Amino acid sequence: MKTITEVQNPLQVFAQIESQVRSYIRNFPVVFAKASGHTLWDNAGRAYIDFFAGAGALNYGHNNPVIKEKLIEYLRQDGVTHSLDMATEAKEALLKKFNEVILAPRGMSYKIMFPGPTGTNSVEAALKLARKTTGRHTVLSFTNGFHGMTIGSLSVTGNRMKREGAGMPLTHALSLPYDNYMGADVDTAAYIERLLEDGGSGLSLPAAMILETVQGEGGINVASSEWLRRIEAICRKHGILLIVDDVQAGCGRTGSFFSFEQAGITPDIVCLSKSIGGYGLPLALTLIRPDLDKWQPGEHNGTFRGNNLAFIAALEALNYWKDDAFRQSIGKKGQMARARLEKIAADYPYLGAEVRGKGLMLGLAVQEDELAEKICACAFERGLIMETSGARSEVIKLLPPLTISDEALNRGLDILEESVKICQRKERGL
Ligand SMILES: *Cc1c(COP(=O)(O)O)cnc(C)c1O
Repeated sequence: MKTITEVQNPLQVFAQIESQVRSYIRNFPVVFAKASGHTLWDNAGRAYIDFFAGAGALNYGHNNPVIKEKLIEYLRQDGVTHSLDMATEAKEALLKKFNEVILAPRGMSYKIMFPGPTGTNSVEAALKLARKTTGRHTVLSFTNGFHGMTIGSLSVTGNRMKREGAGMPLTHALSLPYDNYMGADVDTAAYIERLLEDGGSGLSLPAAMILETVQGEGGINVASSEWLRRIEAICRKHGILLIVDDVQAGCGRTGSFFSFEQAGITPDIVCLSKSIGGYGLPLALTLIRPDLDKWQPGEHNGTFRGNNLAFIAALEALNYWKDDAFRQSIGKKGQMARARLEKIAADYPYLGAEVRGKGLMLGLAVQEDELAEKICACAFERGLIMETSGARSEVIKLLPPLTISDEALNRGLDILEESVKICQRKERGL
């Protein structure tokens, strides 16, 4: 039996017992009970199309049936679940397959590090290694970049509210203007180049630069391939390590497995997490240029680096990358979604909208404060889960599972359009 208060407020238990820090629950105020593919169901049986996909941790959908079978089989046969960084069959298979399916075909020879199961673990390992191998302290980061919530990752993250949560100075990092930060007329790569070359700039030689090629939390800002190549060239010229944080934009989100492939750059260190675990299971990798692999055994460790269930799921998910079909399907769906967003932007001038993104990592940036949040709230009432992005939450962010059908993708976009229309009526007081 449910108590009266539980019936009146389905989130009573969370409000009473869970910390104030909870956040997404506030935008999607129902209790979820079930999930499959692109759909989530609440405990009243209502279905929602998921354009949030675990913030990019569910690129292959909820409870992907092929991966699920492998997990069940592994559990049935008492496969090792927890193994620190001991050798297991599951880990051996993953290392081999990641090398065969992802690294070798791209001519990459990265060493693979298991830094702990979260994105911020991967970033912390990258920052440590960059400082250790160069003997320098400063890391250059970018405006609106997001790299995680631990102190090192926060120090290279842009968002002021999140930074203030640290409660201490965030040091040895300097934030530089990302591509287009000052508008199309200001060449931010030239600015960075000048800072590094000029002995009067006040900047000493940094250990590394860390960047996202598409900023997931910071507003779906896309760096151009040209800008990325120039940043890479600046790094090479000055002996600065280039770290690409592909935690959200990687694993196919922007169309290719790595988000930086189209630009043709070769980062020294790559951070992966979110969808690398295949099934929403915690897993992170840090890919290291072989000559930088200067760790002492155990110099970086962590209890949950041997999450074998995630290894099994990741192993199966890599099958999506064995040929070109999956990549092509992401490109097609991305183009279709983008065209519809362009049409919404054109048909509803009140939005003052700009379409952003790449592949199936898309955003609709709107002018007015709080409008994006209102549209997402309206969409949620109509059965679509979407989050906002950007420092002012001004961007409606679309991150559907990459496995979503055209039909469901269109249905979600229909709900978005309808929500845009309803919010317009509300704006006009109708
Ligand atoms: C989510 C994210 C992280 C942090 O990952 P956690 O698993 O939340 O620690 C780091 N970098 C980027 C680009 C992310 O999107």
